[in-house]
Amino acid sequence: MKSQEARNTFLEFFKEKTHRIVPSAPMVIKDDPTLMFTNAGMNQFKEYFLGNSVPKSKRATDTQKCLRVSGKHNDLEEVGKDTYHHTMFEMLGNWSFGDYFKKEAIAWAWELLTEVYKIDKESLYVSVFEGSKDADNLGMDTEALDLWKAIVPEDRIIYGNKKDNFWEMGDQGPCGPCSEIHVDIRSKEEKAKVSGASLVNQDHPQVVEIWNLVFMQYNRKADGRLEPLPAKHVDTGMGFERLCMVLQGVKSNYDTDVFTPIIREIETITNSEYGKNEETDIAIRVIADHIRAVSFSIADGQLPSNTGAGYVIRRILRRAIRYGFTFLDTKEPFMYRLVQVLSSTMGHVFPELKEQHQLIENVVKEEEHSFLKTLDQGLVLLDSVLENAKGKLIDGRKAFELYDTYGFPIDLTSLILGERGFELDEKGFETAMQEQKKRSRSASEVSKEDWTILANDLEQEFVGYDVLEAKVKLVKYRKV
Ligand code: ATP
Ligand code: MG
Ligand code: MG
Ligand code: MG
Repeated sequence: MKSQEARNTFLEFFKEKTHRIVPSAPMVIKDDPTLMFTNAGMNQFKEYFLGNSVPKSKRATDTQKCLRVSGKHNDLEEVGKDTYHHTMFEMLGNWSFGDYFKKEAIAWAWELLTEVYKIDKESLYVSVFEGSKDADNLGMDTEALDLWKAIVPEDRIIYGNKKDNFWEMGDQGPCGPCSEIHVDIRSKEEKAKVSGASLVNQDHPQVVEIWNLVFMQYNRKADGRLEPLPAKHVDTGMGFERLCMVLQGVKSNYDTDVFTPIIREIETITNSEYGKNEETDIAIRVIADHIRAVSFSIADGQLPSNTGAGYVIRRILRRAIRYGFTFLDTKEPFMYRLVQVLSSTMGHVFPELKEQHQLIENVVKEEEHSFLKTLDQGLVLLDSVLENAKGKLIDGRKAFELYDTYGFPIDLTSLILGERGFELDEKGFETAMQEQKKRSRSASEVSKEDWTILANDLEQEFVGYDVLEAKVKLVKYRKV
């Protein structure tokens, strides 16, 4: 099943069950101090769960663009190294706002997976919250357990701890116990050797979580206490790319039609081949992943910059540029050339990609251009630092010099050091940073604004954005 059909099938299934299909909210969040980027489908409905506002319809479904690179859900380190965590991904979801609860959520999830998508029942495992003995002191989710027992044999039910089976958006906000569905896509021979049940939640690339059914019952307050929500809700999230992996019978998200057009383009542009060498493969996966995160952010109005969310985006882009430079020998801007294929494969679902296509290309190209100017020199400096290093711990002041003079984000320096078997003295870096801040405080005022940076040679300059219902849109341009 092609990805487009998989997405539509999900939405249509829940539409038939009287859910309203709603658009994805922006991936970049502008008005919530507790969250920088949308990290799950439920974010845009937070106020409904808290009882602060009333939805138009008690049932909703959508595909939500998510980004998991900061805060409670940060998958950046895994991306590219494994084959099923992305920075930006689509989360398919269905919701009940104080309407149906566990019984329907569980029955429908099972029906969709096994009867509509026709995923082999024998390859599925489900999990149930076992309770917690900590300050929250929560009991086992016996209601979900009984419902699952009526559907699946007991040896396919896993009892999960708080880390895996109690879902929280962030340090605060709506939360609750959950039941997850995992799929084992290993070969028959491998399945016979080791039981799939023992591999659930063990970071096995072919025994992966695909769907999380969260039963929203609590609100985590700023002081850490849980308080019951005024009503009970259902919030589900299914990883779209992982679903496609299962439905397309491949072993990696990057082998689905969501990613292969981008990967083919990277191969062509960089004259490389995917699937031959692990180091090259990681670089290709990182680039294929990161161009999506960066493009979707810019399409939402978040340009790379030196502060806040803008700096997160700049760091992601620079990380990808360095992977290309070191492992694919890309010495010229090239990532901007991937925007075309992204917008032609995903623009029909996310029209903002098409609308902002030119802006995205310009911004990415300019970022690549400016980082490539100093990347080479910075890497030479880093090489000499490593050659002269006495031990395995690298002076934080050197890392600061790389940051300050060559534009190396600190996590990029850490990543490179890790690849070479070294470690960073983070305290030294912090001290050097503080000293410089003190020095510059007396000097000219530095802009803290996220949205100001646009290079001179861009054709258009962004000057504002409009907030339309749940959508932030770039609306005004000035020719420069
Ligand atoms: P995992 O344990 O694999 O990290 P999770 O438990 O953190 O996943 P949830 O917060 O439950 O994920 O999100 C719901 C669904 O979104 C998951 O079941 C998974 O299919 C998908 N998902 C989560 N994180 C990612 C990611 N980084 N990239 C792609 N899909 C993801
Ligand atoms: Mg996770
Ligand atoms: Mg999980
Ligand atoms: Mg989960």
